[in-house]
Amino acid sequence: MKYQELKKLTLSYIITGSLQDFHPFCEKCKISDLRVLTINHDNYDGAKRRRYGEGTGVTLYKRILRKEITSDDLSVLCFNCNHLHRLEQPKKEDFYQ
Ligand SMILES: [Zn+2]
Repeated sequence: MKYQELKKLTLSYIITGSLQDFHPFCEKCKISDLRVLTINHDNYDGAKRRRYGEGTGVTLYKRILRKEITSDDLSVLCFNCNHLHRLEQPKKEDFYQ
C-alpha cells in the first residue's frame, strides 16, 4: 500500500472507527488536504509516547490499524490546528486550581 493510501486509511479509521471508504479532514477547521493532516494526541502526550517507542509515520499508522494502539485519545488535525492544540495546552498549575 502506498504511503498516502495508508495515511488516508489510518486517519479515516481514527475519525470513523471503521475502515469504510472515507476522506479524512481536520476535525477542527475541516481542511481535507491529506498532505497537511496529522495525528493529534488529545492528551498532549505525543512526545512522551514517542519516547516510549510508539513510533511515527508508517510505523504508527500500521500499529493503529492493527489495533496495537488505541485511537480513542487520538484525533485528526491539520498541522496548524495541531500546533494550536499544543500552544493551548493547559499549564500544569491550571490543574491544581
Ligand atoms: Zn485544521
